[in-house]
Amino acid sequence: MNYTEWSEKVKQCRKCKLCNTRTQVVVGDGNPNADILFVGEAPGKDEDLRGLPFVGRSGKLLRQKISEIGLTRNDIYITNIVKCRPPDNRDPEEDELVACGTYLIEQIRDYIKPKFIVGVGRISSGIIYRDYKRGVIYDFDDYKFMGIYHPAVTIYDSTKLEDFVNDLQKLKKYVNKQDKFW
Ligand code: URA
Ligand code: SF4
Repeated sequence: MNYTEWSEKVKQCRKCKLCNTRTQVVVGDGNPNADILFVGEAPGKDEDLRGLPFVGRSGKLLRQKISEIGLTRNDIYITNIVKCRPPDNRDPEEDELVACGTYLIEQIRDYIKPKFIVGVGRISSGIIYRDYKRGVIYDFDDYKFMGIYHPAVTIYDSTKLEDFVNDLQKLKKYVNKQDKFW
């Protein structure tokens, strides 16, 4: 199965109760062969309507800051821990995380095979790497991992915007040093 076929399969998924309230499944966006994978929590309202991750207000901020550090859409792939929008943007529940987690694992291990995974926000970062500290680069299986603030947090607290941008610059500096990345 290639990535397009796999994505089509996931778009039909009814493994958990979020399938009853979603508009559509949000599988991901960007270059599936990219070395850098951003993983958020779950689609919000805009993402559910458009079928793409991080396209609402905070998503636009994330994408803008990624492009400001010199990464293009071709350098990255963006997805979420849970592929369907939880009603009223509540946190994903345990059964949903378990049901959808198998997709994230397949996506990472069999298709994207990133060299660097960035957890966007506390929830997704903590699920990928328990007890992480924001902005610290860890070895994680065959990947590097770093957790950053969720962009929504930085909209309400500008001091966090500075940390958010610094962490992205740390990522850029790291990948620049790794010849094999590019
Ligand atoms: N927040 C997320 O965590 N993911 C999205 O796709 C959009 C907003
Ligand atoms: Fe399937 Fe994941 Fe959507 Fe649940 S959240 S229905 S497991 S794609």
